[in-house]
Amino acid sequence: MDHVAVGSGTGAGEVETEVVVVGAGQAGLSSAYHLRRVGYVPDRDFVVLDRPPRPGGAWQFRWPTLTYGRVHAMNALPGMELTGADPDRPSSEVIGEYFTAYERAFDLRVRRPVRVRAVREAGDGRLRVETDAGVWITRALINATGTWDRPFVPRVKGQETFVGRQVHTSRYPGPEAFAGERVVVVGGGTSAVQHLLEISRFASATTWVTRREPVFVEGPFDSERGRAAVALVEERVRDGLPPQSVVSVTGLPMTEEMRRARESGVLRRLPMFDRIVPEGVVWDDGRSVAADALVWATGFRAAIDHLAPLRLREPGGGIRMEGTRVTRDPRVHLVGYGPSASTIGANRAGRAAVRDIRALLARTREGARRDEQRVERIISPSHGSVAVRETAAR
Ligand SMILES: Cc1cc2nc3c(=O)[nH]c(=O)nc-3n(C[C@H](O)[C@H](O)[C@H](O)COP(=O)(O)OP(=O)(O)OC[C@H]3O[C@@H](n4cnc5c(N)ncnc54)[C@H](O)[C@@H]3O)c2cc1C
Repeated sequence: MDHVAVGSGTGAGEVETEVVVVGAGQAGLSSAYHLRRVGYVPDRDFVVLDRPPRPGGAWQFRWPTLTYGRVHAMNALPGMELTGADPDRPSSEVIGEYFTAYERAFDLRVRRPVRVRAVREAGDGRLRVETDAGVWITRALINATGTWDRPFVPRVKGQETFVGRQVHTSRYPGPEAFAGERVVVVGGGTSAVQHLLEISRFASATTWVTRREPVFVEGPFDSERGRAAVALVEERVRDGLPPQSVVSVTGLPMTEEMRRARESGVLRRLPMFDRIVPEGVVWDDGRSVAADALVWATGFRAAIDHLAPLRLREPGGGIRMEGTRVTRDPRVHLVGYGPSASTIGANRAGRAAVRDIRALLARTREGARRDEQRVERIISPSHGSVAVRETAAR
């Protein structure tokens, strides 16, 4: 991979820039677009680093039966519409091609595959971004790493004894892989429902298990509902708590297919089981279900382990934010996190983060300029260079 130096060099293998964007999904591309729009030059003023081999963010890894027609409400990226896509094609292909065209149209020069391993203090007020392709020293960071890279599976007693297959949504192979099997699908979100509906056409038996009673919501998922859901997640993030799952605030929007599945019994739900045994799952009240496969549609967590050295977390376990800015560290913005974890939210977050970072960098530049002026005033034959070094180091 080509990872020539951008900006200007510092230590061996280190490259200076103004802004590093980590991740090139909807949130990262939206941020890069807005950086470009306000005059930042890619490969000089900012750089976008993305782990996967191709454009598409997490969409490129989604299963083939998640066709473009089945995604809820995919908002286009700013500045370029996604038109005329075939609803029967896999969303991984449609969105992969769209992102490719987008990156090219706005010349965003995303660097991939580049995995950010850690972000820490550089020691001079800037941040040090360590990757498997070199080190970047930056004044600000837009973190747009989504959740796909951190699948979540709850711990259940006996899990390791199960002799069948266990698959998380992030590795879901499509329904044909479960032909003739007895399958338990765990999870109360849209992914679980979609897995269940399609697996039930191939499997010999399906069982649906959720922690809480699912809430089916009639009527369209309109902007008012969307706003209400975002407000609830925002409140938690403001309080320094981890953002909760989307479905816990939106409910499950009812479709015609779901209505039919409900009538046929496929969507009959059981509470979470208490134990896993080699041949299936067991409840403490004596019930049990034999299974060949367990499908964990139990969601994701924010993929932000690389930010751990910055100690951004509050005692409540979450990261307190004002808009997209991390309260504990104004150099760091999280986009596509919590309330902005949707395609529309990611678009808005990208714009807000860039506006804020621009103001921050202007303030730091102004501060640096004032320092320089102070240094110049102090340079005089009577003070000499010692006084200059002392002032500059303050
Ligand atoms: C199954 C599923 C279906 C969905 N359907 C919809 C929908 O219909 N409509 C909707 O609005 N939203 C939907 N969402 C939510 C959707 O994923 C988000 O709205 C949006 O696409 C996420 O964009 P993002 O840029 O935040 O994350 P991503 O698309 O995940 O992009 C993050 C990028 O950062 C990369 N990355 C992660 N860690 C690192 C690292 N350390 N170093 C470098 N790169 C890194 C990732 O590999 C990825 O390329 C869905 C989510 C799921 C799981």
